[in-house]
Amino acid sequence: MKTASRLDRIPPYLFAEIDRRRDEAVARGVDIINMGIGDPDKPTPDIVLQAMHRAIDDPSTHNYPPYKGTKAYREAAAAWFERRFGVGGWNPDTEVISSIGSKEAIHNTFLAFVDPGDFTLIPDPAYPVYRTSTIFAGGEYYTMPLLPERDYLPDLDAIPDEVARKAKLLWINYPNNPTGALATLEFFEKLVHFAKKHDVLICHDNAYSEMAYDGYKPPSIFQVPGAKDVALEYLSCSKAYNMTGWRIGFVIGNAMGIGGLGQVKTNIDSGAFKAIQEAAIAAFGMSDERLHELMSVYQNRRNILVDGLCSLGWPLTAPKATLYVWAPIPKSFKTSLEFISTLLDKCGIIVPPGNGYGAYGEGYFRIALTVPDDRMREAIDRMDKAGFRFDA
Ligand SMILES: *Cc1c(COP(=O)(O)O)cnc(C)c1O
Repeated sequence: MKTASRLDRIPPYLFAEIDRRRDEAVARGVDIINMGIGDPDKPTPDIVLQAMHRAIDDPSTHNYPPYKGTKAYREAAAAWFERRFGVGGWNPDTEVISSIGSKEAIHNTFLAFVDPGDFTLIPDPAYPVYRTSTIFAGGEYYTMPLLPERDYLPDLDAIPDEVARKAKLLWINYPNNPTGALATLEFFEKLVHFAKKHDVLICHDNAYSEMAYDGYKPPSIFQVPGAKDVALEYLSCSKAYNMTGWRIGFVIGNAMGIGGLGQVKTNIDSGAFKAIQEAAIAAFGMSDERLHELMSVYQNRRNILVDGLCSLGWPLTAPKATLYVWAPIPKSFKTSLEFISTLLDKCGIIVPPGNGYGAYGEGYFRIALTVPDDRMREAIDRMDKAGFRFDA
């Protein structure tokens, strides 16, 4: 018995390889500082837990949920979105759908829109799912390089016309994982224009919409007039509310896009647990002050890490959003893999190599802000003692 050939085309999942290396180091007795995967280490906030306790005691949450989410959930999501981004007028029946976390909805969007021979336009470096789900759907991906000299925004003019003609989906993600880059409304305007010209659906993965610092508020693509004609946006409770394990989010936008995604989901999953939808409604109701408190934890860690790396010679500016610091490897290392392997061997620090997010990530590494302040300081201290310096 052999697995389907589509699995042969899927590269090994990046974090599985990192986990394997961690386990080996742990087995050797190393005190590991794991800044590898973007998974918040803090507990889910109390108002969410309380809502979950109440919801789970109510037997009406125990049966199959509606496929596209409860009406109350979709209405709460639309209301939250309007309060947060100032964009309203959503029809919760046709323009909003619950997701079992964004990863699920991202994958199923490919199944809804990509036929064999169709192209997807995907950034590089990027969250790996856009590429693997293109492969699962039997499509071809065209890589849009994200380069530091373009502030990690793709160059739409560089996409050949014959590729744009065959493209169904264009994926973006700002605030960006892994680079921490931000999008401007001008860039979103260009995207909407491109999508209308080439009949492409823009999919904006806004997983870090609430994870921002220094007063910065990440925008939605729907702040651009006309975006609703051509775009979907993927919001998630995972990162901002420390809810990665709960698997809940929503997709909002173009009714044809939501309809296609809904048709796939109806045939594949049976929706998100109703009690978890209730808990997410509580998260949407969280005060700005409380959210700010949650984010200040990461902001402090970011400051410790960026200051520490700068003291070792790294040329970094502090990212205004996401869970990540994206940094170049010292020139004395030939590849990202060589650098992160040395970092693990000499310092017990786990970070992913930039090229794990695509070929254009080569020469970089990503540090997740998912360990407490003292461990962050310890990591910098270990790097200092082991002689790590940035040499340009
Ligand atoms: C974490 C992450 C996701 C997945 O979020 P879930 O809602 O937990 O599935 C999607 N996109 C990006 C860019 C991410 O970093």
